[in-house]
Amino acid sequence: MTNLNQAWFDRAQVVIPGGVDSPVRSFGSVGGTPYTVARGAGAYVWDVEGTRYLDYVQSYGASLLGHAHPAVVEVLRDAAALGTTFGAPTPGEVVLAELMTERVAGLEQVRLVSSGTEAVMSAVRLARGATGRDKIVKFDGCYHGHSDALLVAGGSGVAQMGLPGSAGVTAGAVGDTIVAPYNTVPRLDDAVAAVLVEPVAANMNLVAPSSEFLQGLRAECDRVGALLIFDEVITGFRLDFAGAEHYFNVTPDLWCFGKVIGGGLPVGAFGGRSAVLSSLAPLGPVYQAGTLSGNPLATAAGAKVLRLVARSDYAALSARVAAFASGLAEAIGAAGLYVAAPVAGPLLGLFLSREPFDVPRDFSGVKALCENGLYRSFFHAMLERGVALAPGAYEILFVSMAHSDEDLARTVALAGQAAEVAARS
Ligand SMILES: *Cc1c(COP(=O)(O)O)cnc(C)c1O
Repeated sequence: MTNLNQAWFDRAQVVIPGGVDSPVRSFGSVGGTPYTVARGAGAYVWDVEGTRYLDYVQSYGASLLGHAHPAVVEVLRDAAALGTTFGAPTPGEVVLAELMTERVAGLEQVRLVSSGTEAVMSAVRLARGATGRDKIVKFDGCYHGHSDALLVAGGSGVAQMGLPGSAGVTAGAVGDTIVAPYNTVPRLDDAVAAVLVEPVAANMNLVAPSSEFLQGLRAECDRVGALLIFDEVITGFRLDFAGAEHYFNVTPDLWCFGKVIGGGLPVGAFGGRSAVLSSLAPLGPVYQAGTLSGNPLATAAGAKVLRLVARSDYAALSARVAAFASGLAEAIGAAGLYVAAPVAGPLLGLFLSREPFDVPRDFSGVKALCENGLYRSFFHAMLERGVALAPGAYEILFVSMAHSDEDLARTVALAGQAAEVAARS
């Protein structure tokens, strides 16, 4: 069947703005018609025309085990048969919270929500409520979901669309948000409630923190009594068995999670020490709520994923991704482009250029590379060869635990071909 992708996209555009429910899915920055996914299994997705793609989008990091893992599907079936939402406590939310707090040192309590956006928005409110201060510091190019106060200098889709922020956000909503360059420790004062950071910046392509950055933030927060918030919506339970704290040996005051902990269903969570979390309603004055929070399907899937992944699996995946990154860099370099494929654990970025360049340390460096136009042709050349990358240069590649060595080797070979196409473009 041909043209079914176009047919679905045409229908979608009539009833859904831009045909997509999240702008990062649009092909706006790469051009063309998005493939509409009919199903996925492991490392692969199939579109409505039956074309198979080796998938490095993996729901932007939500799928750690790959698509439709049989054990996850099974717990979902079982959970669905018992009822999908009650408006009362359920065992599943307790189990997921226990699994998370057992792994992450210092994370004593979590409150479950339904998205990463909600998690970060609520953590910021909690930080303000707990400190009695207003200002929030975020870093240029980091993405923290689409809540008003954090929609400034965002990465991911905000960067992709070349927006400084968003229309519809009042000056008042962002008036207490201070933006600083990544990898430089800002000087704080005692008006700052919290410093919010992606411990590995993974929404402006990939920028790893320098060895001093996170420690410097910890020290500066301590100096003025501000809270340090790690937005681990991507890094949580993907970077490492216990997340960024364990990986970098820096302990935040509050954590935000999402993506992986939902096992492919809508979940977010924020947490920290009980003494801080006790400011939340019903114990304290900071209000936060959600009809579907701690949803039985989502908590069942998330708990299953956390249980299926062993500590050693992270090291193994990181080692495979490191080799994959070298392979990609070599193949793309041999095709005549300059390339960097920075990694942090199993997180993988990709920068392409016609000129030599330094690996970016902040958003200004990233932007110059992501706007050079090469990604667009590289992306399409890969897609034509059956490899789906995210349709935007500011996203990273997600290698799931279902990607085989053969999948990665084939990707390297195809990346060499795609780089030749891009170099000629
Ligand atoms: C994806 C993401 C979010 C937002 O999560 P949603 O589930 O899309 O609302 C927040 N922070 C980071 C670091 C993310 O990558």
